[in-house]
Amino acid sequence: MKVLVINCGSSSLKYQVLEMEDESLLCKGLVERIGIEGSVLKHEKAGEDKYVLQVPMDDHKDAIGHVLNTIVDPVHGVAKDMSEISAVGHRVVHAGEKYASSVKITESVMDALEECTDLAPLHNPPNILGIRACQELMPNTPMVGVFDTAFHQTMPAESYIYAIPYEYYEKYKVRRYGFHGTSHKYVSERAAAMLGRPIEDLKIITCHLGNGASVSAIRYGKCIDTSMGFTPLEGLVMGTRSGDIDPAIVTYIRQKENLPQGEMNNILNKKSGVLGISGISSDFRDIEQAAEDGNERAQLAQRVFAHKVRFYIGAYMAEMNGVDAIVFTAGVGENDIGMRDIICQDLSNLGIKMDLIRNKVRGKETVISSDDSKVKILLIPTNEELMIARDTVELAGLK
Ligand code: AMP
Repeated sequence: MKVLVINCGSSSLKYQVLEMEDESLLCKGLVERIGIEGSVLKHEKAGEDKYVLQVPMDDHKDAIGHVLNTIVDPVHGVAKDMSEISAVGHRVVHAGEKYASSVKITESVMDALEECTDLAPLHNPPNILGIRACQELMPNTPMVGVFDTAFHQTMPAESYIYAIPYEYYEKYKVRRYGFHGTSHKYVSERAAAMLGRPIEDLKIITCHLGNGASVSAIRYGKCIDTSMGFTPLEGLVMGTRSGDIDPAIVTYIRQKENLPQGEMNNILNKKSGVLGISGISSDFRDIEQAAEDGNERAQLAQRVFAHKVRFYIGAYMAEMNGVDAIVFTAGVGENDIGMRDIICQDLSNLGIKMDLIRNKVRGKETVISSDDSKVKILLIPTNEELMIARDTVELAGLK
């Protein structure tokens, strides 16, 4: 049974086809520059060289049409015809307060997603376009929506309500939503499996550290707090995003620099984070290299980033009255050995002890804490697509 997973951005689209009998990846690909000159599809069939298709793709329907043709291509494809694709799982960023789990897509789900467009103006419209395009091209195939916000819907009100006039929550739904939910859910479930204990008995802190980064507190399998907020700007320092700042800074800098409307938003999302501090790059590999070469602002960027992760780990340990496991995942969490080292330094009084030798590993599911560490530190590569495909199988009634 094959499942197609689609993740649509404004001018790009990622996809995977998985064989769900054994959860293996059959192919994956990326379409870039949709609706822009130079559209390109890069397709990788498991174990084979990359296939690149350069043809004009005017819109998402065009792009998905080419993806589907490639999937059934006799040479590069992984299916004889489209009837072999049993269901499609769509990654959708924002479901507001409407959905606390994945759902089979119906017209009323589409209406709900349209209603959430205000909350995620950059992300939800291309997600919706992707679903519509698939519905037109595969009218008889069940579609499932898997939401970045859903896993965090179990947060109690004290975690999600901001201390601003309550009417803004009532009128405009201004509250903490949290993002990366599919990843936090996946790695917390894997953590329980690695520890050989039911997730209902465990307190877990999951650190999704990528270009975007967030930490979640997961008590007995349910998210009770997360660092991203109303938008993915809040919380940790990120590649180009500031994370938490004093909101008064926004008006202060805008006045001082006489910035046009909207520019602060751009600065905080695109020019801040480790890029803003270092002045070098948003990529942690470049920061690491510069820090090794003695660049003090790169070293400072690393320390500020680590400081904020430690800050949230401490906060979430307090919220949960302890923790059984801390998980590192995503690009930085899975690969940046030095950063994991700094984050876990001097936490032995909290029962957290990293094994520096075990920590010298990248992208592999493994325990990196020492044997006498009360808290297990785990490295778990995330797999959002697999999580989406699993939910798709279940909700499309294919199990
Ligand atoms: P993600 O958003 O999860 O795809 O993570 C992407 C980020 O992971 C990149 O921008 C890099 O900053 C970081 N990254 C990937 N590989 C490494 C590595 N070997 N060492 C340090 N950082 C890495």
